[in-house]
Amino acid sequence: MSKNHRGAGIRTLPAKGRGTCAICGKTDIKVLYEKDIDGKTVKICKFCNANLKNKAKVEARKAKPAEESAEAPAESAE
Ligand SMILES: [Zn+2]
Repeated sequence: MSKNHRGAGIRTLPAKGRGTCAICGKTDIKVLYEKDIDGKTVKICKFCNANLKNKAKVEARKAKPAEESAEAPAESAE
């Protein structure tokens, strides 16, 4: 069995797995990951995939009471 996201395994895909990423909009990039966004399955590149994964991880970690779920982590209060 070949690797899922590189090498011979993706050569059989249309355009060898290349296309336009649905998130960052890069063209001619390998879009090997599928993601459900707004109920739609879109193909994204590995960078966006990793990005989403990291975000999910962070969310999971701070799964505390999400009171101020603002984006800016204002920790350095003097
Ligand atoms: Zn992307």
